[in-house]
Amino acid sequence: MRGGSVAVVGGSIAGCAVARAAARGGAERVTVLERSPGHLEDRGVGLCILLDRYDELVRAGHLDDGIRHHPVTARHWVARDAEGSARGRALWVQPMAMHSYHWGVLWQGLRERTPDSVEFRPGTAVTAVGGAEDVDGADGAGPAWVETATGGREEHDLVVGADGHRSVVRAAVCPEARSEYAGYVAWRGSFDARLLDGLPGGAARWPEQEVITACYPGGQVVLYRIPGLDPGSTLVNWVFYAPAPAWLRRADEDSDPLGFPVGALDTARHGELAELAERVLPPYWAGVVNLTPVERILLQPIHDLETPRRTAGRLLLAGDAATLVRPHTTSGAAKALQDACAFEDAWRAADDWAGLLPGYDRERGAAGHALVDLSRRLGRAQVTAAPDWAAIDEPGMVAWWRQQLGATGGFGGLALGR
Ligand SMILES: Cc1cc2nc3c(=O)[nH]c(=O)nc-3n(C[C@H](O)[C@H](O)[C@H](O)COP(=O)(O)OP(=O)(O)OC[C@H]3O[C@@H](n4cnc5c(N)ncnc54)[C@H](O)[C@@H]3O)c2cc1C
Repeated sequence: MRGGSVAVVGGSIAGCAVARAAARGGAERVTVLERSPGHLEDRGVGLCILLDRYDELVRAGHLDDGIRHHPVTARHWVARDAEGSARGRALWVQPMAMHSYHWGVLWQGLRERTPDSVEFRPGTAVTAVGGAEDVDGADGAGPAWVETATGGREEHDLVVGADGHRSVVRAAVCPEARSEYAGYVAWRGSFDARLLDGLPGGAARWPEQEVITACYPGGQVVLYRIPGLDPGSTLVNWVFYAPAPAWLRRADEDSDPLGFPVGALDTARHGELAELAERVLPPYWAGVVNLTPVERILLQPIHDLETPRRTAGRLLLAGDAATLVRPHTTSGAAKALQDACAFEDAWRAADDWAGLLPGYDRERGAAGHALVDLSRRLGRAQVTAAPDWAAIDEPGMVAWWRQQLGATGGFGGLALGR
């Protein structure tokens, strides 16, 4: 199919990738409407993409080696021991080949690779979307439309919702879909890796290609290095799953809790995290977490969300707007890029809009459901119903991991086309 006008709501990972896919597929006009006025890169921290998924995405033309990343080769699972040894008791060394990214570096790379023909409009918040009506008869659905906060309204042949967790486009595609709060939170932080030299044993205690998972009753912290925004620099990045603090905010009595973005935490709340780290983690890893400046820490309540459909009329969902997966699966960015691959394939295979949308939905529906299920199993097994870390040994860890993956597997995202 060639021609047509596509509006993409949201210009983050999924938005940049889908815009590029539409331009490559031959859309006549592609416009990205992004709420944020700029400097998105300052808000992100780390994420990982498994090597198998990375290779597929490179083959599909959605990633390349020019976007700076850091190699990871193994995941070391540890827990605090009675002797208080610095790195804790080794539970299991799990082979795991991944690339770690700074969210901002990945985003910049994808943004730079968006063709010049794509019009990118930062500072444009979409407030309403229409066009979800079913195609009916030969003359088809009317075009889709978007309204923006400035009061403008524009029509397009297709509107793609790449607008994340609280998607406006999803509300039009499947108003019944609701995100579910998992009942626990992730604190996240990052800092200049040179600060590790100040710890007892220094940076040498932690080889650069190891991702660490330090487990405790009630949660875990996952730590790894990522490239910094400045070429040549390295950051330490961590995600600390923990019970929700009593002061977690809700917008109203019935709503899910809201997070605290980078820069919004005060020192008293930060102090609770520092105290938790000291109490539950092996001393070296508590020291790593507590090197983080308060202004580099954010708090994110964990949610997930399944959608009964990802397309309706002339609307289509991609990335977190389509399916929101808990971070334990390490699949958010890979899945968003895979959605763009599937969109491009469906575009190339379709003769018209009526062929494009169902083709995409068939392809991405099963993967979305499988990943949400997996992320819930991992969340239970690793956070809310974790084993007794003091009692488990390496064979026990291997069996525990296999049980979590179940028949579908999918850690890091399912293979494309599954
Ligand atoms: C600034 C930022 C930093 C992030 N940092 C990390 C990280 O460090 N680690 C990690 O694992 N994940 C991070 N994420 C989430 C990660 O990008 C997603 O989980 C995943 O990659 C899927 O991306 P997405 O593009 O579907 O959704 P998102 O990345 O959530 O992007 C949605 C985009 O839509 C825009 N938007 C939302 N509503 C509207 C609207 N009404 N009108 C116009 N635009 C709208 C948002 O501003 C945002 O840019 C971050 C997301 C953002 C936006």
